[in-house]
Amino acid sequence: MPGHLPDATGFALTATPAGSAAEQPGTACFATAGPTTAVTLRAGDWLWTGFLVSPAGSTPLPGVATDGPTTVLLAGELYNQDELVRAVGDPKLADAGDAWLLLACLRRYGPHAFRLVNGRFAALAADGGVLVAATDHCGGVPLYLAVGAASVSVATEAKALPTMADGPHGQAVTGLRPLRGTGAVHQVPAGGGVVVEAAAGRPRTRLLRTWTPPLHRRHLPEEEALREVREALDRAVRSRLRTGPAPTAVLSGGIDSSAVAALTASACPGLRTVSMGTDLRDEFREARLVADHLARAHPGPAATGGHTEIRIDTADLLAELPWTIWASECTDPDVVEYLLPLAALYRRLPADRPLRILTGYGADIPLGGMHRDADRLAALDDAVAHDMETFDGLNEMSPVLSGAAGHWTTHPYWDRDLLERLLTLEAGLKRRHGRDKWVLREAVADLLPAETVRRPKLGVHEGSGTTSSFTLLLREHGVPDERIGAAKGAVVRRLYDRLVAGGAHPDEIDLGQETKAALHRPDAPGI
Ligand code: ATP
Ligand code: MG
Ligand code: MG
Ligand code: MG
Repeated sequence: MPGHLPDATGFALTATPAGSAAEQPGTACFATAGPTTAVTLRAGDWLWTGFLVSPAGSTPLPGVATDGPTTVLLAGELYNQDELVRAVGDPKLADAGDAWLLLACLRRYGPHAFRLVNGRFAALAADGGVLVAATDHCGGVPLYLAVGAASVSVATEAKALPTMADGPHGQAVTGLRPLRGTGAVHQVPAGGGVVVEAAAGRPRTRLLRTWTPPLHRRHLPEEEALREVREALDRAVRSRLRTGPAPTAVLSGGIDSSAVAALTASACPGLRTVSMGTDLRDEFREARLVADHLARAHPGPAATGGHTEIRIDTADLLAELPWTIWASECTDPDVVEYLLPLAALYRRLPADRPLRILTGYGADIPLGGMHRDADRLAALDDAVAHDMETFDGLNEMSPVLSGAAGHWTTHPYWDRDLLERLLTLEAGLKRRHGRDKWVLREAVADLLPAETVRRPKLGVHEGSGTTSSFTLLLREHGVPDERIGAAKGAVVRRLYDRLVAGGAHPDEIDLGQETKAALHRPDAPGI
C-alpha cells in the first residue's frame, strides 16, 4: 500500500436522505488514475452511493472514517496534524490517519472545523442530518456540487458528477455560480464549504466561508522577515513529506523550485529531481546546476536520488492539450499554458510507482513575481491583491494534473500558513534592492548557488517554449498575430466543452479538427 500518498485522491458520490429511494450509481469517469471503489454507505442520516478513487493498492474504503452519526470522506491530506491533535485533545489520533483526525475535529467544532484545517483536500462529511462538502483554503482539490430535488451530488471532478451523464439538472445554490456549459453544476469556492440540511426531504443549502486572503500588510525588519519566510517554508516542505519512498521535486532551476528542492534534500535523503524541456527551449543547465549543488551538499547516507531531464517534442507537447484540460477542468488559456508542460512531464514519469511530487508552483502569486515592471510598490501590491481575488476556479493547483498519471503533487508555497505570511509582507520586502522576490531569494541564499539566487524569474510556459508552440499551431491555422490570444481562448473553451461538459476522452480528440472547429464558429476569433 503506498502509504506515502493520500488514501483517497477523488470521489463522486450522491447523498440522499436515508430511507428514500437511492439511485444506483452507474459508472464514474475520473481523469485521476487508480482503482475506483464502488461505495454504498450509511453516513449519518444520509445514504452515500458512488465511487472513490485511490492510489493503486489502497485500503478497502480509502479515506473514509465513521463513528456513530459522523462519517468523513477525505480526498487529499492535512498538514497541521499536530495542531489539530492538540485541538481535539486526543494524542491517539496522531497516528490514526487524516480522515479520523478530521472526524474528531468535526465532532468538536461542527462544520467550522474546516476553519482549523491546513491541508490539500476536498471532503464530504455527514453529521446526523447535516452534510458538508468542503475544499481547502485555496480550493487545492477542486470540488463540484449539484443539488437535485431530493439528493445532492458531490465530486472532485465535474465530469465525474453523476448528473453530468444524463445532462446536468438541479437547483441553483445560493452564493455559487453554475459552471460553464452546465445548468446546475457548481464549484465549491476556495476556502468554502456547502452545508446541506434535508428539510422535509428537500435539501437546503448554505455557504460556509472558511478562509479568505488577508488584505493587511506587515512591515518587518529584514532579518525578521527572512527568518520568518525561511522557517515557514521549511515547515511547509517538511509537513509535505511522508515516510516511504523518497519524494520527487519538479525542478526548473528557478528560485521557487530550487528553494523547495534544497529544503526537501535537507529534510530527507533520496530526493529525486526532474526537469522538462522541449526542442524549442529548456532550463536544463540551470536545473542541473542546482541538482549538482544539492548532490555535493548532501553526501553519504543523506545523498540525493539523482536528476533526470525529459525532453518533449513540440508536437508531442501540444498533443497534451486535451489531457491538460481534461485533468485540470480549466477554461483559462493562460493557466492552461502554465499547466501544459507540467501535465506532459507528469505523464512521462515512470507509471509503475506512484510518486509524491513537490513543486515550486504558485510562489509568484503572493510574491508578485510575474510583475516584472512593478517598480512602484503600489502596483506590485495591487497585482498581488488582484491575483488573490481572481485565482478561485482556475484550478491551477489541481492534483488531477498529476493524478491523471497516477502521481500526487503538493505545492508548499500555497501551504495556508506560508501563503498568509508571504501575502501579508509589505511590498517593499518582495521587491527590494532592485530584485524581485527578494525576501525568498535571501531567505534561502545559503542553500543554493549564487547564480540560482540571482536568476531572473522565467515562467514555466516560457522556459519550456509552450507559449511559442501554441502560438505556432494557431499561426499554422492562419490566425493573425493580433488574434492569437483570443484564438487560444476559443480553442481551450472548445476542448473544455468536449471533454468536461461533453464527456469525451482526450484520446478521442483530434486537435487539428477541434482547433479548426473552434476558429470557424461564427462568433470565433478566426481568420
Ligand atoms: P521562477 O518563478 O523564479 O522562474 P520557478 O521556475 O521555480 O521559479 P515557475 O517558473 O513559476 O517557478 O514554475 C512553477 C513551477 O513549475 C516550478 O517551481 C517547478 O516546480 C515547475 N517547473 C517549471 N518549469 C519546469 C521545468 N522546466 N521542469 C520541471 N519543472 C518545472
Ligand atoms: Mg509560479
Ligand atoms: Mg515561480
Ligand atoms: Mg521558472
